[in-house]
Amino acid sequence: MLAAASPFGRKEAFSLLKSLSPKRRLIPFEAARLLATGDPMVWETAAAMARAMREQVFGRRIVLFAPLYLSNECSNNCLYCGFRRENREARRITLSPEAAVAEARFLEKKGYHRLLLVTGEHPTRTQPAYIGDVLRAIYRETKMRILHVNAAPMTVDDLRMVKEAGAGVYQVFQETYHPETYAAMHPSGAKADFAWRLTCMDRAIPAGFGDVGIGALLGLYDYRYEVLSVLRHAEHLLEAYGTFPHTISVPRFKKAFGSPLSSAPFPVSDAEFERIVILYRLSVPSAGVVVTTREPAALRERVLDIGASQISAGSKTDPGGYAEGRRRHEAEQFEVDDTRPMEEIVRRVLAKGYLPSLCTSCYRKRRTGNTFTEMAVDGHIRDFCLPNALLSLAEYAVAAEDATLREESLAAAREARKEMEGSPLLPEFDRKFAFVLEGGRDQCF
Ligand code: SAM
Ligand code: SF4
Repeated sequence: MLAAASPFGRKEAFSLLKSLSPKRRLIPFEAARLLATGDPMVWETAAAMARAMREQVFGRRIVLFAPLYLSNECSNNCLYCGFRRENREARRITLSPEAAVAEARFLEKKGYHRLLLVTGEHPTRTQPAYIGDVLRAIYRETKMRILHVNAAPMTVDDLRMVKEAGAGVYQVFQETYHPETYAAMHPSGAKADFAWRLTCMDRAIPAGFGDVGIGALLGLYDYRYEVLSVLRHAEHLLEAYGTFPHTISVPRFKKAFGSPLSSAPFPVSDAEFERIVILYRLSVPSAGVVVTTREPAALRERVLDIGASQISAGSKTDPGGYAEGRRRHEAEQFEVDDTRPMEEIVRRVLAKGYLPSLCTSCYRKRRTGNTFTEMAVDGHIRDFCLPNALLSLAEYAVAAEDATLREESLAAAREARKEMEGSPLLPEFDRKFAFVLEGGRDQCF
């Protein structure tokens, strides 16, 4: 497809980009043509459309979350990862369910309500039953509202067990969709099986995961091939199950302690990274486009203006790292670039005119899978995103230790409430909002 895709002329590109909407997304061949287009004016317009697209689907809210690393024990040997089996210098840690609860409590105090549990793949330390135990323990012992999982591909039965333990989104990145590169990067272990990984979501969805997350690890192969493959994967999920992936992540290679790959074989520049975010947003309007703390602060701020909708904040990639409090290279997966704490991220998101959201409502009100995809495309999800973002922001503000941050957050929430004038949800919203200001928790639509 890449070879056949000719660049767009400016006029043709403008008229296509202006016609896009949540119901008229960029199709993969158009995405290939856009990728072949170098004209900066075209990309400027595409960036503006990507931002408009995100606002039509989700409004101004930006979802915040944190990863919780459970284990760095792994029997695979991915060349890029610090958790690989042959990294003899790594300090191996697998959190007990109690230790995972301690990490979750730490993050709960910081104001997070959604976490992404991340683990290596080890035949005895990180089995599905262990992940299930951790999920149940965190839900039981904390007020964490939704836990997503990024772990190895599993069988349908195992995926069902993890789902039944309360997982929200199941996330697996293909790393590279290029089979030869995949074979070179994954020389041994269960992960060497390309097809088992590629078909993971074809098991996860039948196992009950309405919401799945996909992505390619940028830097392993030609990014244009990877991006089109991610889009093709997304189209497959829509064709086969009626639902787009709930999230598309944009992880980019980072040098990892103890990994033999000291630099990306196909480096992706910041400008290319931006184009990838734009393409994902224009091609899969309903997806959460996720940019993590792998990226530098300035780029993370920029991607908010061009279609990203979810960012992690204050992350640690070593199991137990939150409670530990100091950096441990020898146990982390890769080096985090944006080390700003949650409070600073909230402040910056507000300063840029967006609404930091700690909302978890859709998973809990069963607006998931194809229901979510349809509501998002019809422009109905944003009707929920605004009040839910404001209620979660107000709850965050009331608990915030920093008085200035509290005032800034509440002022932004009150100002944004004006956008609800005329909404049938307004009277109920005002009741819930007043309740939250009095210290009430967990209010949503
Ligand atoms: N072990 C499971 C797996 O490989 O799918 C899940 C956990 S793994 C720690 C999560 C993701 O981290 C991987 O899918 C990969 O995309 C990403 N990752 C690994 N090494 C990385 C690196 N050096 N830089 C950036 N991302 C990396
Ligand atoms: Fe293990 Fe996942 Fe790291 Fe590969 S990416 S070494 S499977 S933790």
